[in-house]
Amino acid sequence: NPLARAKYINSVHSLRQLPPDDGREVVFAGRSNAGKSSALNALTNQHGLARVSKTPGRTQALNYFEVAEGRYLVDLPGYGYAKVPEAMREAWKGTINRYFQERASLAGLVVVMDIRHPLREYDLQMLDYAFARNLPAHCLLTKADKLGRGEQGNTLLKVRKELAGRATAQVFSADAKLGVDEARAVISGWLEI
Ligand code: GDP
Repeated sequence: NPLARAKYINSVHSLRQLPPDDGREVVFAGRSNAGKSSALNALTNQHGLARVSKTPGRTQALNYFEVAEGRYLVDLPGYGYAKVPEAMREAWKGTINRYFQERASLAGLVVVMDIRHPLREYDLQMLDYAFARNLPAHCLLTKADKLGRGEQGNTLLKVRKELAGRATAQVFSADAKLGVDEARAVISGWLEI
């Protein structure tokens, strides 16, 4: 597993603090509770890895995990969290927007979505950031174990149709270890590791 060496590096609150823009990185986004931390843990085979992203003070940050020299997974805070004050949310949105616009080493976006609630407003917003700069994007429809095989397949088809070839999608479950190798292959391909 090329992602197994992931280790937490730092949490970046403003774009000035980003590591040098000369490596490769894949950014993870998703609604709070979608299953993003569990997905990161499953992908890296490290049970406590993404817990760091939930530490108070790191919830409004880009959390950097290094998987190889200059190769990073970047965990964005879960969105759709009502408790964040409006002004802070707007400022953060500006930061994320600029990050997507300016970050040359950004090689791909992974959007983690609960398979029962795919492609909600903020998910589409993140995908739009990627589309705007032709960044490859991949959707993990996670918690797939909550649905039967037939429903999983139907949802995947529906999501792919809505994405219209602009992003890829797959079924995933951190609990059932479903689709983990498939997702790793996409991410390590983007990272060239
Ligand atoms: P995050 O807020 O997006 O980081 O979500 P978490 O990874 O913390 O997961 C939120 C909740 O969903 C937790 O209770 C997890 O145990 C549960 N969860 C995450 N992934 C899966 C999965 O693949 N299957 C099931 N059934 N539950 C999951």
